[in-house]
Amino acid sequence: MTLPAIDESLLLKFLVDLLKTPSPTGYSEEAIALTERVFRAIPGVKTCRTRKGALLVTLEGEQENAPRALAAHVDTLGAMVKKIKSSGRLTLSRIGGYAWNTIEGEGCTIFTREGRRVRGSVLVTTASGHVHGAKTGETKRDDDTMEVRLDENVSSDEEVKALGIEVGDFIAFDPRVELTNGFVRSRHLDDKAGVACLVEAARTLRAGGLKPVQTTHFFISNFEEVGHGAAVGIPREVVELVVVDMAAVGEGQASDEFHCTLCVKDSSGPYHHGLSNHLRRLGDEHKIPYKVDIYPYYASDGSAFWQAGGDVAVALIGPGVDASHNYERTHTDALTATTNWIMAYLLN
Ligand SMILES: [Zn+2]
Repeated sequence: MTLPAIDESLLLKFLVDLLKTPSPTGYSEEAIALTERVFRAIPGVKTCRTRKGALLVTLEGEQENAPRALAAHVDTLGAMVKKIKSSGRLTLSRIGGYAWNTIEGEGCTIFTREGRRVRGSVLVTTASGHVHGAKTGETKRDDDTMEVRLDENVSSDEEVKALGIEVGDFIAFDPRVELTNGFVRSRHLDDKAGVACLVEAARTLRAGGLKPVQTTHFFISNFEEVGHGAAVGIPREVVELVVVDMAAVGEGQASDEFHCTLCVKDSSGPYHHGLSNHLRRLGDEHKIPYKVDIYPYYASDGSAFWQAGGDVAVALIGPGVDASHNYERTHTDALTATTNWIMAYLLN
């Protein structure tokens, strides 16, 4: 059968909304709630939350004797306030794995306990070239040399505390979303792109009056970037898990921004050969532009589920994302390919 046509503009609209909703790991409620609202607007879709705060979406299938799961994560890289300096600047504790230089110069928002949002930016302590000369370039970026400058008239720790800012407050980095010539440039395409593909696949299927062959659960994870997202929360009766997460693009990689990639191995080892081959057959049959690749520094919610004792076949697909865990970019071709591959899997 031919796959129903997806609506690229709807896919991009939700993706942009989600990218603009801050969700560092541990502070992703707003993004989970947005995703839940969009899924609930699709007829015949049921949702619930796990106690850990993840979202579980269920699509009733033609059959339910071999239920399946797909997973993607809304949580992103971010930080917490580590210390309020006597200068009125903040030091950061990183959430997730990234290098300091990837956030230098970025705008950010600090979320206080009372719900206030304070704006600022991330800088090296030797930021001004007029003041520090060569040191601006030479300073090693680390926990002590990176700081947040608040857009508030503060120059002491007392004044910062008076704003309601405390140690442990969450910090989100600006996504800086831009759409140009089919490219989507933004932070946190990992893995909001994957979530948007799942939403559009479910919406397109239901709009076409179609059901998955098996009852299928979408697990929208909220602790993936710190490694234990899908360790719990995927229903134990599922027999297969297809994780939808970004493909690593760069030198030595087969992946690119115009294809969906099947990852057959990452730092956590090989994925399930049988399920991977099933996806390859579907990709060939439906002429989905895909690549097969290995990611050298990567683990997924599939790895987390396996390590937690999940007894299922696990495979991993996702859109190619350039400069991942940095200022990322993908292309709508990769998003379309991923959404179509998800639909092909749901219908076969
Ligand atoms: Zn990811």
